[in-house]
Amino acid sequence: MTCTPLSSFDPAADAAHAAPFWAVSTPPTRARLLQALALELEQHRDPLVALAHEETHLGLVRLHGELDRTCFQLRAFADFVLAGRLHAVEQDGAVDGPPPSGRPQMARVLVPLGPVAMFAASNFPFAFSVLGGDTASALAAGCPVVVRAHPAHLRLSRAVFHLVQQVLHEQQLPSGLVGLVDGASVEHGVALVQHPAIQAVAFTGSTRGGLALQGLAAQRAVPIPFFGELGSVNPLVVLPTAFSAQPSEVLAAQLAASVALGMGQFCTRPGVVVLVDSDASRHFIAELARQLAAAPMHPMLTPAIAKAYLSAVQALRSAAGVNVLVEPAPERMGALLATVKADDFVAQGDLRHEVFGPAVLIVVCNDDSALVPVLESMAGALVATLWGAEGDSPLARQLVAAATARAGRVLFAGVPTGVAVTRAQQHGGPWPSSTQPASTSVGLHACERFLRPVVYQSAPAWLLAGLPT
Ligand code: NAP
Repeated sequence: MTCTPLSSFDPAADAAHAAPFWAVSTPPTRARLLQALALELEQHRDPLVALAHEETHLGLVRLHGELDRTCFQLRAFADFVLAGRLHAVEQDGAVDGPPPSGRPQMARVLVPLGPVAMFAASNFPFAFSVLGGDTASALAAGCPVVVRAHPAHLRLSRAVFHLVQQVLHEQQLPSGLVGLVDGASVEHGVALVQHPAIQAVAFTGSTRGGLALQGLAAQRAVPIPFFGELGSVNPLVVLPTAFSAQPSEVLAAQLAASVALGMGQFCTRPGVVVLVDSDASRHFIAELARQLAAAPMHPMLTPAIAKAYLSAVQALRSAAGVNVLVEPAPERMGALLATVKADDFVAQGDLRHEVFGPAVLIVVCNDDSALVPVLESMAGALVATLWGAEGDSPLARQLVAAATARAGRVLFAGVPTGVAVTRAQQHGGPWPSSTQPASTSVGLHACERFLRPVVYQSAPAWLLAGLPT
């Protein structure tokens, strides 16, 4: 496939042409497309995964798993559309008499917003890219999509886009239903957000990039919704009882695997671990250091991401009170493990910035009374993890309240990397983890971002008869 810069052709205009047709397409039509796209990915699995590995270094096992998840996601949205839940109409029958109890007949429907600009993520070449969750949920909702390919996997994006076009052609659907912008400068993304045909933006990337693009979306002649999934420092709080429930070696192995997975390039990676000083927690930290120092490493997604990681590591290691236990060496890119006392952590806001890479900062509290204040010093996050909160206690309740106040997902067992695609899933939390904490970019509720409610009041019978039941 050739490069398709925005200046020489206009995928957003093509999407606008396809939008009215797709907005009124039937559930079977949408489901058939989503299912065929999943099948197409599966049928080209090996070359696609090999290409993804060549570009991202993320490893064949992880990438096969990500492709499976992407197909599962496309099919889950197909099933959701077929079940008819997406466009279910809410009806309030007319009631005779004066208001407030008397009322006219009301029918509330959800209509697609129109073409969605989608910014692919660097770290999910399948699941948050051309055929990822944003595309699947927008197509399911009845919206065409224009994908801004991520430079970390441009060739893969083009290859998947080529397959998408084949499927659209086979199903005699407009080619503009899925477009691709893959020029090599930020101006292409800027032009896409500013394009008058675009009606919403779904973005997965850094807080800085998200803020810049959100500003552009708001400054348009007609501002549009901007759904940004951004960077996140995800806390993991270890109550002392966690160490009596499970051996510290087991917990350290679990955490080390989660931190080092994919070179730590996960928005859900636990970035800060809060625990109480004790023999068990010191043993846990020593074991974690041993495991992280030995964890397999590979090149990061892009040279820019690697550079940003190393400079964030440098900033962290020179902060007051930070004690470094494991760090990258000049000749070997590696994990960072550091400890800091609770007071020093709370006093320094810079310690609470995202480090995108295999880094974890352990905040050591003198006793359990400091756990809640440390958690409360942290900003909004995608996910907060509480280990050892199985038993009902005032401390467990306070921690649950503090975690609920600042995260979209609160986890009580295991590690936060890995986001299941389910109906109930919530991937999006308070600022700065997301620009719209009331929405999710993973799970079936993701479609709601691209639908707008309209109520028909005292509508004629012919109109009501045409609405979905
Ligand atoms: P990034 O630098 O923000 O890039 C993401 C996309 O935004 C790229 O396509 C980039 O353009 C574009 N962009 C960035 N700044 C821009 C600007 N000022 N104007 C126009 N376009 C701009 O993010 P990244 O380094 O690739 O990815 C790492 C970040 O993503 C981490 O912070 C991570 O936590 C976050 N992330 C979040 C989630 C989530 O679900 N919340 C998931 C995965 C990753 P170009 O293509 O031109 O470079």
